Amino acid sequence: MQSLALLFALSALVATVVAVTAWRRRRVTSAVGTLAAVSAAIAVWSLASGLLIPFGDGALSRALVILLFLGITAVPPGFLCLSRALTDRGWRLPRRTALLLAVEPLLVTALVATDPWHRSFFPPAGGVLDPSGYTPLAWAHIAYSYVLLTIATARVFRAWVRGPRGQRVLYGLTLLAAVPPTVGNILNVTGTVQGVDLSPVGFCVTMVVSYWLFVRRSLHELVPVARQNVVDMIDDMIVTLDRSSRILDLNPAADRMVRRLMPDLPARLAGRAMSEVLCDVTLTEGTDTDRIYADYRGSGLDLNVRVSPLRDDRGDRVGWAVVARDITALNRHRRALEQANARLSEQLRTIEALRADLAEQAVRDTLTGLHNRRHLMDALCKGVQRAEEECSPLSVAVLDIDHFKQVNDRHGHRAGDRVLVRFAELLTAEARSGEVVARYGGEEFVVLLPGVTGEHASARLEELRRKVAADCIRADGHLLSITFSAGVAALTSGRSADDLLHIADQALYAAKRAGRNRIEQAAGSGPSTAAA
Ligand code: GH3
Ligand code: MG
Ligand code: MG
Repeated sequence: MQSLALLFALSALVATVVAVTAWRRRRVTSAVGTLAAVSAAIAVWSLASGLLIPFGDGALSRALVILLFLGITAVPPGFLCLSRALTDRGWRLPRRTALLLAVEPLLVTALVATDPWHRSFFPPAGGVLDPSGYTPLAWAHIAYSYVLLTIATARVFRAWVRGPRGQRVLYGLTLLAAVPPTVGNILNVTGTVQGVDLSPVGFCVTMVVSYWLFVRRSLHELVPVARQNVVDMIDDMIVTLDRSSRILDLNPAADRMVRRLMPDLPARLAGRAMSEVLCDVTLTEGTDTDRIYADYRGSGLDLNVRVSPLRDDRGDRVGWAVVARDITALNRHRRALEQANARLSEQLRTIEALRADLAEQAVRDTLTGLHNRRHLMDALCKGVQRAEEECSPLSVAVLDIDHFKQVNDRHGHRAGDRVLVRFAELLTAEARSGEVVARYGGEEFVVLLPGVTGEHASARLEELRRKVAADCIRADGHLLSITFSAGVAALTSGRSADDLLHIADQALYAAKRAGRNRIEQAAGSGPSTAAA
C-alpha cells in the first residue's frame, strides 16, 4: 500500500511539473495551455488518491475525497478541450463553453461534499472506488465523463484518419498515449480491477507523452504558419494558377496590385482567367521579365514578373505560380540615377576639356599661339635625355628679329605685334613633326630640332632666313620686311639643356655682332655658317 501511495505521489509530482512547464509555454500553441490545465487536474487527482491511502479513514478523508473529485471531474472536460485545441490550431476556449463545462464538475463536487447529508452519490455501504453499489447519480457522472472522453477520442481519431499527412503520425501517437489510462479506467469502473484506480497514473503518462508531442508538433506547425504569414505580408504579388491559367489563389499584395491596374475588377478573383487580371503574362518555364503596365491613373506600374510551374509528386505540371514585384520606385530611382550619371559624365567631360584647355594655355604664348618658355624648357630637357639615350642628334636654334625696336618705334606697338605673329606663322610652317617652336621672350624665338644635326639645322635656318627676308608683312596699313639672326647649337656629349641654350644664345650674339640677318653655328656644332 505504501508503494502505491508513493506511485501516486510520483504521478502527482510529474503531472505538476508537466502542468507548470506547459503553462510557461502556453503561448506556443493553445493546446499546450489546455494541456497544462488537464495536467493540473491529474496532479490533484493523483495527490488525493495517494493521500487517501494513509488518511482514508481519518478526519481528512472528507476533504481528500472532495479534492479527488475536483481532479476527477475536471479531466474529461479538459480532454475534450485538449482534443479541440489539438485539431484546430486557432481554437481558443470560449467563455460560454468554459462555464458550461464547469457545471458538471462543480455539481458533482458539491454532491460529493454534501453526500453525508443526502447519501445520493456514494453507496451507503461500499467504498468510494467500489463500483458494485454505484448510485444512479454516480453512474450519471461516469456516463457523462465517458461521453466527453469519447467525443475527444473520436475527434483526434478523425484527425488521424483525415488530417494532413505530415501530422497524422502525431495524432496517432496522441491516441496511443491515451489508450492505457482509458483501458485501466474502464477495467476499474467495470470492476475488473478492484480496490484501486490507477487512472491518474496512466493519465499522467499520457500527459508527459502529449506534452512532448505537442511541443514537437508546434515546431512542425510553425513552418507552414510562418510560410502563410510571409505570403500574406509580403509586398510581392503571388498568384497561383491551374493548368488552364485560371486563378486558384492570390495574396493580398496581388489583389492590391491588380486592382490598381483595373479598379473595376469583381470582388472575387479566384476562378477568373489570369488574362482578365494581368494581360500578357507569358506562361512558360523560367519566364523572368520586366513589364510596364499602365495603371488607371496613368502613372505607370513597372512589374518584374516571374513565372514558374507548379508540379505534383510525379513531376507533372499542375499549374503555375506567378510572382510579380512592383519595381516602379526602383525603376524611377534607376532612371534618376542614370540621368544624374549622364549629367555628371557631361560635367566631367566639360571639366576635362577645361582642364586640358587650361593646361594648354599654361604652355602657350597668348600673342603668337606658340609654345612658351616653360614648355620649351620641359621639351628641351626631355629631348636632350632622349637624344642621349638613343644617341641621336639634337639641335637648338635661338632666333632674334633684327632691329625690332625700330618697328615699334616707327610703326607702333600694334604693328610690332603683327610682325611677331607673322614671324611665328613662318616659323611654324617650316617646323617638322616632333620639332618645337617656342617664343622665348620679346622678339626672341627658339626652335628645337630633335634628330637634326647642327649642319642640317643651320641649313634649314638659312632657308628660313631667306624666306623671312623675302616676305612682306602687312601690319597696321604698312608693308614691312624684316630679317632675323640666329645661333645654332648641336648637342654634344656632356652638354646639358641649359648649356645648349646658352651656347646657341652666344652664337646668336655672334651673328648680331657679325652684322645681323645671318645664321651662326656654335663652335663644336659643325662648320660655322654666315649669310647676307
Ligand atoms: P637687335 O637687332 O639687337 O635685336 O635689336 P632689337 O631692337 O631687336 O632689340 P632690343 O632688345 O633693343 O629691342 C627689343 C624690343 O622688342 C624691345 C621691346 O619693346 C620689343 N618687344 C618685346 N616684346 C614685345 C611685344 O610683345 N610686342 C611688341 N610690339 N614689342 C615687343
Ligand atoms: Mg632681342
Ligand atoms: Mg632683336
